[in-house]
This record gives sequence, structure tokens and C-alpha cells, in this order.
Amino acid sequence: MPDFRIALACAPNTTGIAEKIAPYEHLGLSYLGAVLREKKYNVKLTDSDALQLKLDEAIERIDDFNPDILALSPTWATVDNSIELIKKIKRKNSDLITCFGGYIATFNDREILSDYSLVDYIIRGEGERIFPALIEKLENNKSVENLQSITYRSKDGKIIQNPIAPYIKDLDTIPFPVRDTFEEILQQDNIYILNLITSRGCYGNCSFCIAGAFSRLSKKTPAWRGRSIENVIKELELLLDIYPQIHYINFADNNIFGPGIAGKNRVKRLAQALIDHDINIEWQASARSDNFDKDDDELFKLLKSSNIGTLFIGIESGVESQLELFNKRISVAKNLKTIKLINKWEIPVQWGYIMFNPYIKFEDLIKNAKFYFNKLKYYSIHKMTMKLRVFPGTALYEKIRNDNLLKDSFNYKEIFNYNYLDERVAIVENIMTKTANQLYAEHAILQNAQEMTDTLLSGVLNVNVPHILDQLQTIVRTRNSIYKKIRDINHLNYNYFRDIMKLIKNNSNDTEIYNNKIRGVKDKIIKKHISEIKRISSELDEEFKDFIKTLNDYMSEVLNV
Ligand code: SF4
Repeated sequence: MPDFRIALACAPNTTGIAEKIAPYEHLGLSYLGAVLREKKYNVKLTDSDALQLKLDEAIERIDDFNPDILALSPTWATVDNSIELIKKIKRKNSDLITCFGGYIATFNDREILSDYSLVDYIIRGEGERIFPALIEKLENNKSVENLQSITYRSKDGKIIQNPIAPYIKDLDTIPFPVRDTFEEILQQDNIYILNLITSRGCYGNCSFCIAGAFSRLSKKTPAWRGRSIENVIKELELLLDIYPQIHYINFADNNIFGPGIAGKNRVKRLAQALIDHDINIEWQASARSDNFDKDDDELFKLLKSSNIGTLFIGIESGVESQLELFNKRISVAKNLKTIKLINKWEIPVQWGYIMFNPYIKFEDLIKNAKFYFNKLKYYSIHKMTMKLRVFPGTALYEKIRNDNLLKDSFNYKEIFNYNYLDERVAIVENIMTKTANQLYAEHAILQNAQEMTDTLLSGVLNVNVPHILDQLQTIVRTRNSIYKKIRDINHLNYNYFRDIMKLIKNNSNDTEIYNNKIRGVKDKIIKKHISEIKRISSELDEEFKDFIKTLNDYMSEVLNV
């Protein structure tokens, strides 16, 4: 067995800004774990985010393992904690070798190495081939000079960036990811959501997207690569044998559709295979709006009968010029057609949307908000504050930098530190963000009720037993009342947005008026809105809890009949 003990970790995110919606395991670490175990290395995973570890707990866990190498995959939000983690581990083991990988490290390699002497190596791009090769060199005291995809310091302290290696063309050749973290999640929680990828990368070229930029980094491999359906099903069946309690699958692909008709046919084959293999489990995945057309009946039928739970589709904006800025290569008209289609087929969906970006004009902000409210039918205060994340490595970052819109404090960890061309947009964004920050708990209530009410009800209706009609009618009435409250909250939020816009539009040019008169009016509007949302949300919370209790009582009664 090779000597090195290797810790693979991600540090906890303590910024309060969530990067993912559920405690899914970090598949990047799990794939690295698999290739290293295949080579008989002693590997320990510490996925702080998925296991909800505090920084001290993560440190203690890694310390106990006493690694020779510690590899971390920081996001913009976890760089500081990653460095803190290294500092503490190095106190006991000053010979520890440290590595960063992932999106942020890939595009900020030189900056990270020059900012942090505690980081020894950066692996850019995919790590499955490069990381084992790096370890082998280090074990044998060989130079990494010719190792592709590595950024490192030479003996005289210069930062050297080696060229990027081709990505892995045939994903079926990579061993299945280890499931250490998943096992730990299962022991801690009742959340049996399996994270699995069927493909890597995306053929889209959206100007803001770090995942897209990452997938186009290796010029020798296509931006989107898919596993064979047989390989995906084999992994799924193996896992379902070991963990029969899995009740939801998150296909974590950037885009489950590959390019063109072949990409669409592959999704159909995947759905058909799920049906043929009796994998009767709800699943979710991401797609582009232009993956769907009016004559896609066969695709939609297969998605429905294979138990699709949710689709994530990045609509991004209701304003043409913004879609062009984002290089979506999809028009507002096309997005509207897709929204209609998805609604017609009654597929639950979460729309990706970017309300604020440095270039949006005040007038377009109103259009953007209106589109969201009228077409996407969801208007939580937090959706209204969605701000562009500016990632170095993307085309939009270059544009914003060239247009001198980055604040001096902007860096790979402070990705929201940019200016707006229109000062009034900045004022609106600031007010909306402050309001949203005071309504976190209410947002969670709304989201829960919005996403779970019909899912729970359909679970009850689908049980194959004779139903008790009058009780069922009461349940449906409660359901309707819940949705009325959700609509009320949405309306209030939208009207609030418009009130704030009106106030700023009419007065913000005059600083004196703004300071003396508007501040008072604005504070009143904010206060009133927050108290109204809190009141309705608390009623909604009560009603939703009641709804769940009534459903449970009803089910016990029905099953006892
Ligand atoms: S379609 Fe989605 S994943 Fe693909 S580049 Fe655009 S934003 Fe990124």
C-alpha cells in the first residue's frame, strides 16, 4: 500500500449565503476518493457542508486522521475557512502538503498561491488523473515541472502555471464515486437524497457561468460529455441494493441534456431505462430552456412516467438585452414558449433568475420584476434580490472589469463587490437585500409550503385505498387556503418592489430630498412590509403544520378502514 495518507475536504460555509439547497455530498471529493482508493491509498473524506460540520469539528476530524496531504475544494465562500483549516492542521504537522482544486482554484490559481503561502499546489480542471500523478511525484521526490494542469511555486518562489491537460473523454472509465459521505448523511438524517451525475460540463456558453467556463477549459475535449446510460443505471442499481431507503435522486449534471438531437435522445433513453429497471424514484435535473420544443410529447411523457420531481431551468431574465448580455442564445419569446410547455405538462420547476446585474437599466428592472411575477408565478423576497455572481474566469467578469465596474474590494472571495451603471438600481438592490435579510425565516416557511403542499397531497391521493370523501374535501380546502396565502405574499412582495421603485424613481436624483424626505417614507414602507409579511407567514406556518397533521391523521384512518 502506498504510504501517503490523503485527506479530501471542503471547509464549512459560514457566510450565511447558501451554495446548495440540500445536504448533497460533494461529488468532486467522492470521485477523487474513488481513483485514489483504486490505487490503494488511505483516504479520508471530510465534507463539512454536507455533514454540517463546524470548522472546529472538521479540523478535529482531519487532525485525527493525521494526513500527509490535505486537498481542499473551496468555493468563493469557503476560501477563508479552508485557509483557517490548513493553519490549524499545520500546527501539529508542519510537513503537511496542501492542494486546492475546483472552480475557484482553477481560475484564481496565481492569486491564491500569491495570497496564501500555506497552499502548495493548485490543480486546475478535472482532478481524477492529475491528483494521483501529483501524489506519485511527491512520494518519489520528483519534480512536478512537467505535470500538466498544476500551478506551483518553483524553488526560487516563482509561480508556474503548467498547461491544462485534456479532460477525460470517456466518463465510463472513471470508477464510481465513493459514498463515505452519503453513508454519514444517512446516519445523521432522514434525508435520503442521492447525488449522482450522468454527464459533465455544458455546451452552453453563458457569459456569467463558471461551470460553463470550466467545461470549456480543455480545448481537446468537448465541453459536454455524457456517461453511457448503462453505466449510470449500473451505478444506480448498485446503490439501491445497498441503500434501499433512497427516495430522491438529484442528477447533479450542469445540464442533463447534451447538444442537439443526440442529447435529447439520451435523456429519453435515460428516462426509459429508469422505467424499464423499475427505478421508481423521483428525480430532478437541470436543463436549458431551449432543450424543449412543442413537438416533444414523447420526451415529456417519458419524463413524467419516469417520475420527474423537479426541473431547474435558467430563464435568467425577462429582458432581451439582459439575455444577450448573458449570452444565453435564447430569446424572451423562446423562454415564454418553454414556460407554457412546462406548465402544460405540469412539471414542477424552479426557474433560475438574475434580477440585478451591473448593467441593468432602472426601467428594465421594472420589466424584469414584472416578468418574474406574471410569468413565473413566484415572488419570494429572496428571489427578488438575486444578484449576479461575478466569477473571474468568465466572459462577463472580463467585461465588468474592462468597464471599470468592479469595486477595489472585489476579488475571488468578494464576488458581489461591483458597482451598478445606474445608481438608482444600486439603491433598490440595497433596500431589497436589507429587507430580505430580515425575512429569512419567513422565506423558509413560504418555500416549504410552496414546494411541499401539492407533493404531500398527491402522495396521499396516489395511495391505492378507498378515500374518505368529506375529510378529503376539508384537506383540499386547507390546501387552497395555503395557496391563497402564498399568492397574497407574492402580491405583497411584488407591490413592495414597485413601491420602492416608484419612490426611488421620483426622488433619487435629488440627494437632499432623498436624505431628508425619502428616508422617512422609505423606512415606513419597509417596516410596514416586513410586519405584514411576518404576520401572513406566521398564519401560513400554522396552516401548513395543520395541513401535515390532518394528512397524517387522514392516512392513519384510511389505512385502518
Ligand atoms: S446553460 Fe446553464 S450550465 Fe450551461 S453555461 Fe449556461 S448557465 Fe452554465
